[in-house]
Amino acid sequence: MKEKNKRQLAKLKYEEKKKEEEKRQKFEQEFLKGIQNEEFKVYIQGKVDAKTEKWIGGELLVRWKKENKVIYPDEFIPLLEKYNLISKLDYYMIEKAYYYLEKWEKEKKNSVHLSINQSLLTIKEENYLEKIKEIQSSYSVVKNELEIELTESVFVEDRFSLQETIQRLHQLKIQVSMDDFGTGYSSFHRIQDYEIDTIKLDKAFLQEERNLKKGRIVLESMIQMCHRLGIKTVAEGVEVKEQVNFLKRIGCDLLQGYYYSKPIPMEEFEKEWN
Ligand code: C2E
Ligand code: CA
Ligand code: CA
Repeated sequence: MKEKNKRQLAKLKYEEKKKEEEKRQKFEQEFLKGIQNEEFKVYIQGKVDAKTEKWIGGELLVRWKKENKVIYPDEFIPLLEKYNLISKLDYYMIEKAYYYLEKWEKEKKNSVHLSINQSLLTIKEENYLEKIKEIQSSYSVVKNELEIELTESVFVEDRFSLQETIQRLHQLKIQVSMDDFGTGYSSFHRIQDYEIDTIKLDKAFLQEERNLKKGRIVLESMIQMCHRLGIKTVAEGVEVKEQVNFLKRIGCDLLQGYYYSKPIPMEEFEKEWN
């Protein structure tokens, strides 16, 4: 390559990097401002006991309300992960979960089970458990329960001691669930490697149009297997009555999906929880 072309290429690369860095800085500032101004809103999607169809609690899901616009997690979580900012949001959500668990216990509402999503990047942080302990120690929660949802792909990662993290979470009375189960490729043998409490069957199982009959046999067998291993099962993405009937018949423990409720603001859920 000629010297002139080389210089031009280097200049282009430098400018690209500079632009990317400016983009990162802008996003980081907006995010930190958003956290400070409480623009991140806690939504909850209820889970029901399949046998009684009564609420047992729900999953907390974040929404970013910015200038009258609602931004969904799929739009900003990948960026928070890319720029290594995700743990700040994840700790923020844990704090919110404990806030509500304590508040409802004090108000003598029925026992509630809340779950939150945590990114792999967060749980891999060196002081993750210390941080959780610190948050936990500012609240007094005795009977209400917290569960951490880890997406299935986390369990494929074995460069850090996940089993030890799970055990230490258990010592802190925090349950662990494997989210989006069935979307990855090595889920089955991972189940025996970790002491997980719950498995969330991915919504794709219910939406699978191609071969519903076979899909349902797989689902039924997975539920049986989980029960034999002492693991609870949650079906997500439940949208119609027919799915409810089927899931009840095959013994799924908990149900979550638009059929029962879309994710709603915490304040709305709170009014209904007694
Ligand atoms: P997820 O944990 O698998 O959450 C379930 C997603 O499915 C939610 O999307 C929910 O609104 C949607 N959903 C619920 N019921 C139904 C249904 O019946 N049918 C269909 N088609 N969809 C349904 P959402 O709220 O947009 O969240 C997307 C993802 O963002 C979540 O997937 C989760 O991985 C991530 N996320 C959300 N909040 C947090 C957070 O605080 N921290 C982290 N690290 N990730 C989060
Ligand atoms: Ca989840
Ligand atoms: Ca899921």
